Amino acid sequence: MIEKTKDFKSVGLSKEILDNLKFLGYLEMTPIQEKGLPFILSNRDFIGQANTGSGKTAAFALGILNKLDVTNQNPQALVLVPTRELAKQVTNEIRRLARFTSNIKVLTISGGSEERHDVKSLKQGAHIIVGTSGRITKLLQTGALILSAVKVLVLDEADRLLEVGSLAEIKHIASFTPKKRQTMLFSATFPNGIKSLSSSLMEEDAAQVTIDSQHRNTTTKQLFFKVEGEKNDVLLRLLGHYRPESALIFCNTREICNKVAALLRSNKMDALQLHSDFEQQERTLILIKFENKSCRFLVATDLASRGLDVKDVGAVINYDLPNDPELYVHRIGRTGRAGQEGLALSLYINKEFEILKLIGEYLTVDCLTMEINQLEKFKPVILRPSMSTIYISGGRKDNIRPGDILGALTKDAGLKGDEVGKINILEVNSYAAIVNDKVEHAIERLSAGKIKGKKFKVGKA
Ligand code: ADP
Ligand code: MG
Repeated sequence: MIEKTKDFKSVGLSKEILDNLKFLGYLEMTPIQEKGLPFILSNRDFIGQANTGSGKTAAFALGILNKLDVTNQNPQALVLVPTRELAKQVTNEIRRLARFTSNIKVLTISGGSEERHDVKSLKQGAHIIVGTSGRITKLLQTGALILSAVKVLVLDEADRLLEVGSLAEIKHIASFTPKKRQTMLFSATFPNGIKSLSSSLMEEDAAQVTIDSQHRNTTTKQLFFKVEGEKNDVLLRLLGHYRPESALIFCNTREICNKVAALLRSNKMDALQLHSDFEQQERTLILIKFENKSCRFLVATDLASRGLDVKDVGAVINYDLPNDPELYVHRIGRTGRAGQEGLALSLYINKEFEILKLIGEYLTVDCLTMEINQLEKFKPVILRPSMSTIYISGGRKDNIRPGDILGALTKDAGLKGDEVGKINILEVNSYAAIVNDKVEHAIERLSAGKIKGKKFKVGKA
């Protein structure tokens, strides 16, 4: 039989891993996986550069999983990421990829949760640690985290790691791991600092793979609107004209974020905002609601632009242009993922014209500027989400799996499969998206019934 080169089979993964990939619907390797995995699986130090959304996580996760010794309960891989959200997300992706066996423990170590929980979890053993540098440094100092069995060190979103932390901090963390290890570095962009990072932490013969056309997001339509009067009017007209199924609206400050979200709400559009004022738990719930379609509009600062795998965003709207072309690329990377056509709409005012030019140079395309008057006037439209989110007061610690909640909703509460959306299981609670007109019913029935033989509190999230 002739095997397609893009088939995961061609790189020599175990049968269990291959079966699970098939189960996850990963039928072909993405370019970074195809070019990178042969190096990664042969233990070479590795530098990978590819667009966001190109499957870098699976590239390094498969490398880690392939050489994990499940009988050894000490951390064998450390993945450093720049933000708490990313830590969660990367943890989830690795857990999905690790599902071929039930005993691989992946632990998130990042700020925003209580340290004593980390200490307790670490005592129980963990194979893979995904975390942010601050909390990891702390636990290394107290001796709660021991990295002497680490075989793989991954620096994910390395460009951003250097922005939120320092080279010295990363080197300090790496000094707790054995010298003889595999080090991998991933980044969508390669500013200068990355060179010193890689030269101080990696072997000289590290393999480097760059997937080209990193800037050219060919499947996304990018339009730029010059604003002469009020940005708010232009924004409302854009929403009325394009009516995106969902939109991520970027603002440069928290204050503007709050203002824009309030503007949308006062125009009967559900909007949530996301920025650094929010506690970790709130941020998680906001992202869950946006992703499971119970919130159509998310107004955010660049906290949401990097790395986060928010999928299927109908449109990215830059209410403010970012100050840096790289940030622009990161922001619009949230739409048009996985080959779907995306839409990126940017507002700019006269004095932002220089930045617009820089973006054009960076993208190596002419930015298509439009007149707002080419669009129809804003007719008030009510853009409501199709789903609502409910919470359930039980989660992973109660051994609840998505199937248990789906079962309770369909079998016990009588909902149809397509009336239930995304289900998120967290440590101590869970969330499920339900079509709007079945929410009350679902809450009532789940509250009266049991999941996994136990009673839980259920309500609107
Ligand atoms: P990156 O880190 O490069 O920004 P991610 O690792 O977050 O990208 O991957 C983006 C999305 O693509 C994720 O939802 C992931 O599950 C999915 N994905 C990764 N590899 C494949 C594959 N080979 N086939 C299908 N989907 C994939
Ligand atoms: Mg990534």
